[in-house]
Amino acid sequence: MKLPDLDYMSLDSAYLRQQRGGFRLLRFEHELEEAFARHHTRTFLRRMRWALLVATVLILLFAVLDASILPDGIRDKTLVLRLGVMLPVLLGTWGATFCPTLHPWMQVIGGFCALACGMAVAAIIWVSRSQNFPLPYEGIILVTVFFYFLIGLRCVTAVLCGWLVLVAYVMVELRAGLPGTILLYNAFFLATTNLIGSVGCYFLEYAARESFLAQGLLRELVEKDYLTGLLNRRAFSERAERHWRQALREQRKLAVVMMDIDYFKRYNDHYGHLQGDEALRAVAQVVGRHARRPLDCVARYGGEEFVGLWYGLDEARALALLESIRSDVQALDLPHESSEVASTVTLSIGMVHLLPHALQSLEDALRMADAALYLAKAQGRNRVVNERMGSQAD
Ligand code: GH3
Ligand code: MG
Ligand code: MG
Repeated sequence: MKLPDLDYMSLDSAYLRQQRGGFRLLRFEHELEEAFARHHTRTFLRRMRWALLVATVLILLFAVLDASILPDGIRDKTLVLRLGVMLPVLLGTWGATFCPTLHPWMQVIGGFCALACGMAVAAIIWVSRSQNFPLPYEGIILVTVFFYFLIGLRCVTAVLCGWLVLVAYVMVELRAGLPGTILLYNAFFLATTNLIGSVGCYFLEYAARESFLAQGLLRELVEKDYLTGLLNRRAFSERAERHWRQALREQRKLAVVMMDIDYFKRYNDHYGHLQGDEALRAVAQVVGRHARRPLDCVARYGGEEFVGLWYGLDEARALALLESIRSDVQALDLPHESSEVASTVTLSIGMVHLLPHALQSLEDALRMADAALYLAKAQGRNRVVNERMGSQAD
């Protein structure tokens, strides 16, 4: 998937920044690179499993061929290399694909597997040369194609394995005394295979990275509010529902919160809509800064209202956190001459703190938080009100 021309877009997105900055060296900025590595492993896991199974079957077929054709002197050593080295390495790597804790290491494990198979084939050629048996060298070409296009290695790993095996092969033939002209041809064919593999693998990984950025950007466009960069209401509902169910299962408490900027209509009327947008963005940043843990979630609910869900905080800590949102908004010091509550932009906050139970829904909790927000407005604005206690906390 390729990104369309997005030069006109002013979205603050790591995916868009990376796409504009380019990635010709097949490297993203730090956090995006880690996310891509995880995505790449997930995407290629099935393919890796199948490739390893196919390679295993091929090794077994070659072993049958070796057993029936090779002369006595080299048959046993060749079978040891095929069945004692290549087979366990392939099956071990196949097994590792089923073990989630090893997934972050899949490139290293896959690279090791590829290198071990390549070296084993070079060793088989060495064994046959030492007994003057004219075993075809093309096995090396086969494993090289396997590194580049089948097993799902990233470009840098595949290139490293491919060229190292080429060096090993040339050293084996030099030691075995293969005539120079034949060695030159063989090495040339193998180098060409590596070159085709390197270029092909580069473009494949480039396309995979492009598609990763496009998917990420698409997700952000669907989930995020364009003006503030917070989640939009729909994305909040989906995530918050999930967190609600998790809290129900794990019996953890939740703070469900509604926030609303005070006298914002007057702010727009006084300072204009554009400055209103700037103020909304600044307040949204403060709100977003206070919800950084993976199971916290805040969003723009609509207009100048925000909604939030904080996971597993006790009541006192939730109130302290909300109080710091309120005071940080005031500390932005955005002048608001027509506000009746302060000379700057302020925020009213309503919270309900509860242990979810089966007969209650997130909608119910949001309604309670909204009632608390209504109380905060009625009690004078610029304050945090806790619905369960029906009390204010500023
Ligand atoms: P209260 O203290 O009771 O909340 O008063 P309020 O004026 O904030 O409440 P009201 O709901 O009457 O007004 C909300 C205002 O928010 C109306 C609208 O002009 C403004 N608003 C909503 N969305 C946006 C936006 O995207 N940009 C800007 N600049 N203003 C917005
Ligand atoms: Mg308001
Ligand atoms: Mg409002």
